Amino acid sequence: MKKSTIILFGDPVLREEAKPVVAFNKKLGALIDGIRLTLAMRLDGAALAAPQIGVSKRITVIDYMGEYLELVNPDIVEAAGEQLDYEGCLSFPGFTGRVKRAETVRVRFQDRAGRDRTIERSGKMARCLQHEIDHLNGVLFIDRTADEFLVNSFDGRKLAVRDILITASPREKPVDV
Ligand SMILES: [Zn+2]
Repeated sequence: MKKSTIILFGDPVLREEAKPVVAFNKKLGALIDGIRLTLAMRLDGAALAAPQIGVSKRITVIDYMGEYLELVNPDIVEAAGEQLDYEGCLSFPGFTGRVKRAETVRVRFQDRAGRDRTIERSGKMARCLQHEIDHLNGVLFIDRTADEFLVNSFDGRKLAVRDILITASPREKPVDV
C-alpha cells in the first residue's frame, strides 16, 4: 500500500463529517495500511485520521506512547475529568496550542475485521483519542484551543487563531449582519 500526502488546513475535507465504515473487506485493510504507512513516515506524528489523507471515512490510526491502535467507527461513550495541555496536528505542521480535554475516555470502536472493542484511556492517550475522533466530525484542535496565538515549534512563527480559523473554514459562508 502506498503512502499518501497529508492534507493541510484549508482543505474542505478536514471539515466534513466522515462517513461510517460499513464494509470490512480487503479494501478497508489496504486503506488502514496506507494510513499506518503515511503516519510512520512522520517522526513528529502520534496519530492520523482518514480525512487527513483525503478519505472522508471514520477511521483513525494511533501509534503513540508505545501503543498501536486502529480504530474504525470510534465513539466516545464515557468521558470524565478534565485536563489542559498542548497538542498539535499533522495538518498544522509545527503548531501547538493548549486544549481542554476530558482526563479519561471510554471509546467503543471496531477493528479492521469488524469486531467490537472498547478501551479506556487517561492522560495523553485520552487526549490523542479525543483529537482523532474530533477529526472524524470535521473538528480541529484550533476550534477548541484556549490560546489566542499558536506558536510554530520549528521556526517560532506566531499565528493568531482567529486568522487560522478563517483559512481553515472555507466552507462556512459569511454571515450577513
Ligand atoms: Zn490532527
